[in-house]
Amino acid sequence: MSDAIAICETCPRHCRLTEGAFGACRARHAQGGRVVCANYGRITSLALDPIEKKPLAFFHPGRPILSVGSYGCNLRCPFCQNDGISQRGGDDVATESATPAALAEIAGRLARERGNLGLAYTYNEPLVGWEFVRDCAREIRARGLLNVIVSNGCVKAEMIDSLAPLLDAANIDLKGPSQAYYDWVGGDFQAVCRTIATLHSAGCHVEVTTLIVPGRNDADADIAAIASFIASVSPEIPLHITRFFPRFRLLDAPPTPIATLRRLAETARTRLSRVLIGNC
Ligand code: SF4
Repeated sequence: MSDAIAICETCPRHCRLTEGAFGACRARHAQGGRVVCANYGRITSLALDPIEKKPLAFFHPGRPILSVGSYGCNLRCPFCQNDGISQRGGDDVATESATPAALAEIAGRLARERGNLGLAYTYNEPLVGWEFVRDCAREIRARGLLNVIVSNGCVKAEMIDSLAPLLDAANIDLKGPSQAYYDWVGGDFQAVCRTIATLHSAGCHVEVTTLIVPGRNDADADIAAIASFIASVSPEIPLHITRFFPRFRLLDAPPTPIATLRRLAETARTRLSRVLIGNC
């Protein structure tokens, strides 16, 4: 048996995998000495959603978008809202197969019949299966439709650089104001900041979401730091400040008080022109 190690270059975890082993995201594995996408074309969800549900508030409002999800995620947020697909992989999760061409065909039909904008890659973390996003995005572009990504943004620069030209809009989570916060969720703060800046520079419409978890990132200084970073990229980037509800491993924390969200939104508005409260 080979004990060669393949290193994944998709995200800052840099998983080192022996042949056949899966990465921490459960969506990638070592095969033939390389790390490949194991969730390619394995679909857990497909739905025509309002664009506002992504959330994107300033990108073709009122229109629907076909939304596709697979499984796997490279973060470990204790408050995950989608752990049934994000924290599972392999045979733990029910999937159906779909090719990029087949999804683009459905997206095209829904565009003609129901005003569908294109295809949104969402529900789990789509960039752990970036090869599928890339191939779908090319098919979607070829039909004159739009590509939208909803992501934690915690990926390596080379990967997002290559994908950015294919993306028309993105909602990226900026979960907290520092590496200390990202240590809690298993991510890399600077990588997420870089993804937001890269997508914006590439001409992609970017909105940012911050889930406010009581006692973790609900201080004025936290949202001020987040808003200051976003403003350094562009003060026009919309920020969605969203409400936490107990989920996954964080079941004994209370929901975020609405008054807290309003207070933090006012703080963010001193730096950003478009701040919204959501998930209330
Ligand atoms: S994308 Fe997955 S396999 Fe690759 S480094 Fe990140 S967690 Fe590991």
